[in-house]
Amino acid sequence: MSVSRRQLLWLGAAGAAGTAGCSPALVRHAGAERPRFDMGIASGQPHAAGMVLWTRLTGADLPDQVPVQWELAEDDAFRRVVARGTETAVAADAHSVHAEPAGLQPAREYWYRFMALGQRSAAGRTRTAPAAGADVKRFDFAITSCQRWDVGHYAAWRDAAAQDLDAVLFLGDYIYEYASGPGAVRPTHTTGKVRTLADYRHRYALHKSDPHLQAAHAAAPWLVVWDDHEVDNDYADVQGQDLQPNFAEQRAAAYRAYWEHLPLPKAARPVDGRMRIYGALDWGRLARILLLDDRQYRSPQACPRPGKGGSHTVRAAQCAELADPRRTLLGRAQEDWLAQSWSTDRPWNLLAQQTLMARLNWRSPADGGPEHGTDGWDGYAPARKRLLDVVAQKKLPGAVVLGGDVHANYVGSLKADFDRPDSATVASEFCGTSISSLGGPQARAARALALNPHLLHGRADERGYVRFTLQPHQLQAELRVVADARQPDSAVGAGARFVVEAGRPGPVRV
Ligand code: FE
Ligand code: CA
Repeated sequence: MSVSRRQLLWLGAAGAAGTAGCSPALVRHAGAERPRFDMGIASGQPHAAGMVLWTRLTGADLPDQVPVQWELAEDDAFRRVVARGTETAVAADAHSVHAEPAGLQPAREYWYRFMALGQRSAAGRTRTAPAAGADVKRFDFAITSCQRWDVGHYAAWRDAAAQDLDAVLFLGDYIYEYASGPGAVRPTHTTGKVRTLADYRHRYALHKSDPHLQAAHAAAPWLVVWDDHEVDNDYADVQGQDLQPNFAEQRAAAYRAYWEHLPLPKAARPVDGRMRIYGALDWGRLARILLLDDRQYRSPQACPRPGKGGSHTVRAAQCAELADPRRTLLGRAQEDWLAQSWSTDRPWNLLAQQTLMARLNWRSPADGGPEHGTDGWDGYAPARKRLLDVVAQKKLPGAVVLGGDVHANYVGSLKADFDRPDSATVASEFCGTSISSLGGPQARAARALALNPHLLHGRADERGYVRFTLQPHQLQAELRVVADARQPDSAVGAGARFVVEAGRPGPVRV
């Protein structure tokens, strides 16, 4: 061993200054025979006085209970430590740690790290949200989703980690439950579809072994919501896509593993197979961030294939259920909560949810259309109308819907009536593409653009994420596009750019 562990750890801490492309989380503990922080560290759910600090200890030889110290400092060298504590990592929670420093200063950068079993983790950078009443001039954030492990690498995360972001919004599909097929870029370790708690934990550990993902976690606090693949493709409430028996048990295991592996507070730990992930956070006077859950409470998808659950693509004329106003994507309680939770005295409301909200018609009326996918908002059009009617009634000046799920970049306007392109634009939408998951054929997306004039941009062939700068008068968005997601060292560059002016809903390409 040419370099002592102490030196490596020191390098790790010094590297936490945030040097672009060289994250502290990449520094492995070469001196440790059994590395204890191999899944990296993370922070999340920032608020004005604190956030959650996360890690999960690694090693097959861990005792049932392990004390884990954490410390949080105002500087990357940890000379000014302002909070420290001890958590007990227990086997029942997969030795995950969810530490919650409190009483911190608002709108401030901090650095954190963990110590356990004689080892120290790399250091991560995090920050608190501004105080709810604070004037905030600028908020830099990214929306990301869909990081299927076996079909691509995480060059997008390498690029995101090097951006100076106040927060990362992860909008679902953190893991995929599938087995690897032929032609995988990097195969999964487990052979079949994941079903059990042990399977889910293993799948998270696999994703979290990626150095670029670890770097993105170590660079900024995340706000997270799930979509379907954290449990099972296209599930709805307690119905799996294969109508499999015992799906409620599978979902409970998946929710538990989700909580174990993400920087979520102790209070979010699932109870009786349920877990609340929706909520709101104010970024000072600038914006309210509303986080939704489109899976746990939804009505089953309309007009499924015979003997199946899950999604389908159907002609509207052949599926009367699509127009049934009793069907819900959010569930009644969350729908009511959202209607009450919009901020009417901030320039911006950011609705962070899972999927494309704009109508996406795949077939012209002359050809028997319209035709829609049933898993997204098109499958719940009356519920979408209820949501957008509230935004219109409240005359919100800057409602921006953020999404993922569809593995394509869609940018457009949300209309009072999608059948009338000249009707009022109620909100702006940025549905970001996948980090790595494969998209559909671009020719199909290009044809759909002609049928959906409220969409400005539709690119199923782009991988990456969307980077935003929000200011009181304007939202700027830049698509960050990966040249080749099969290569971990792929170039990542600027794609299309858009702005939304406060008080004038609808993105404009610049
Ligand atoms: Fe996905
Ligand atoms: Ca999805």
